[in-house]
Amino acid sequence: MEEKKDYRAELFYEPRNGYDTLSDAERVELEAYCEEYKRYLDGSRTERECVANAIELAERAGFAPYIPGMSLRPGSKVYYSNRGKALLLAVVGREPMSAGAVIAAAHVDSPRLDLKQLPLYEDSELAFLKTHYYGGIKKYQWTAIPLELHGVVALKSGETIEVCIGRDKADPVLYVSDLLPHLAGEQMAKKANEVIKAESMNIFAGSVPYADEGKDRVKLAVMAILNSKYGITEADFISAELAAVPAFDVRDLGLDRSLIGAYGHDDRVCAFAELKAILELESPRRTAVCILADKEETGSDGVSGMKSEAFEWFMNKLCRADGSELGDCFANSVCISADVTAAFDPNYPDVSEKRNAARLNYGVGLSKFTGARGKSGTNDAPAELVAYVRELLDRSGVQWQMAELGKVDQGGGGTVAMYMGNRNIATIDAGVPVISMHAPYEVVSKYDCYMTYRCMKAVYGD
Ligand code: MN
Ligand code: MN
Repeated sequence: MEEKKDYRAELFYEPRNGYDTLSDAERVELEAYCEEYKRYLDGSRTERECVANAIELAERAGFAPYIPGMSLRPGSKVYYSNRGKALLLAVVGREPMSAGAVIAAAHVDSPRLDLKQLPLYEDSELAFLKTHYYGGIKKYQWTAIPLELHGVVALKSGETIEVCIGRDKADPVLYVSDLLPHLAGEQMAKKANEVIKAESMNIFAGSVPYADEGKDRVKLAVMAILNSKYGITEADFISAELAAVPAFDVRDLGLDRSLIGAYGHDDRVCAFAELKAILELESPRRTAVCILADKEETGSDGVSGMKSEAFEWFMNKLCRADGSELGDCFANSVCISADVTAAFDPNYPDVSEKRNAARLNYGVGLSKFTGARGKSGTNDAPAELVAYVRELLDRSGVQWQMAELGKVDQGGGGTVAMYMGNRNIATIDAGVPVISMHAPYEVVSKYDCYMTYRCMKAVYGD
């Protein structure tokens, strides 16, 4: 009988709950890592804040801004901020760039409500700010919750003013209203994607009229507050990037504190994992590159998105420093597209195929492919690359699991993986499984956060 049992263990693949093999020392490291991540996330509510906070950590770890023409040698640590909205960091390897770089690519933009370029208006003696949602959201989730306002106002003078209202507990918060249930009979009979109209997602901004007899007195009073605080006028909204984001703190979640609830885990949870891993890296064999991209949630287009040639520009500079060609570098590079995946949720079991879905506490989720329907819009990592990652993670004691984003034909989603693959860079998706992805408050497991960081460390260190 004993013999038969061993045979089963030898032939079958059985994923295990990570807590069954977690050592006491790892547990201490896990808690410390997650506390650091929580601090970073709490103060990083836009891609700009993510980049600024990452630069601060990088400089403390000895990274210097990349200046074209500067001399680079093995062990050099540089970063390049793409307009303050995306960040590229590199630790130069002992081997030349033509041997390939080890790249990890996460994104730091998250779904939110952007203010329109002419947002402020008055209706029924109340002042409002008009919004335009950013990324894929269920609009009804973003009503009747406290919101903060973050972003920048770029002035004609060339000065850029940073705006942050609501993060400080002494600040007021903002709000998009929903209908009371008493009067929502008609609304509740609608389809969920029609319940809240985008053009009714207007933010409550004020209610006290300015003390004169003119028109738009409440709007004027709100504009006066913004003018006294930031020195801006209504026209300055035109060159502003202001976003309303959930005013929820990052908190431990669950009675055992094993989970983290927060806005923006997607994809700052993977961004922080690769950032922390590269900041701890000394003299790697191959050049390590950490990407914090913008615009993933809207399709990766634009100067700060992953389709931008800003990436080629930076990589080419690193290549030229040792006489390598960019094409050779890409052909020999490996990329981890570090983005979150869907965690199996027992409250909604029907959308997942349990055997291939990622589970909380089972470690970093590897996705061979993403996309939708017949694998359209996908990178689909070569089997040989999947084998390499399996071997590397096993050798490094990193717990991993396979993941797919829901049942076949249930829906789907993409990451930056295909834009890296299209560049002739062997790419695989790996990241943290998330509950309630794209909701104002998302949930991840601390164990999976920690293993994703360990995964990034293993990849950079190989
Ligand atoms: Mn993502
Ligand atoms: Mn997303």
